[in-house]
Amino acid sequence: MVELTGQNCNFCGENKLTLREEEIEIPYFGRVFVFSMECTACGYRKSDVEPAESKEPCKYTLEVSSEDDLNIKIIKSGEAILKIPHIITVEPGPAANGYVTNVEGLLERIKNRITSSVEGEEDPAAKKKAKNLIKKLNKVLVGREPLKIIIEDPTGHSAIVSDKAQKSKL
Ligand SMILES: [Zn+2]
Repeated sequence: MVELTGQNCNFCGENKLTLREEEIEIPYFGRVFVFSMECTACGYRKSDVEPAESKEPCKYTLEVSSEDDLNIKIIKSGEAILKIPHIITVEPGPAANGYVTNVEGLLERIKNRITSSVEGEEDPAAKKKAKNLIKKLNKVLVGREPLKIIIEDPTGHSAIVSDKAQKSKL
């Protein structure tokens, strides 16, 4: 891992940004670079991923149907749209993070996202909806309910690494 401390932060101008770059090997996929930036002055954080070999724009669809599927590796870049029908759509953009995880880790991230989206929320209907979504995700996490995960990435930096995942052109 390469780490550079004391870098200039684009957001607050302080020299308190740490840059990290790590290269990891993902079986049946290849090498992936994982980048992250973190500023201790203003709290800015960003991470992203990029495969060592260039890839084509892609769309992956995965039907999660058993507990074994929770271990399937997922590479999601900051440029990808992540769709879990009836649950959430995560839009790409400068504030979107990229990461390497598995299905279980992805669902935990989504749970945290849903939880923080209703923090301080007064509307009981919104709170109830969030609670039901988390309940559904918890059922998927113990293999008791199926779920579909779709990742579309115009840069081709994302992937769902499994024979079960359907890959198509975007
Ligand atoms: Zn900063």
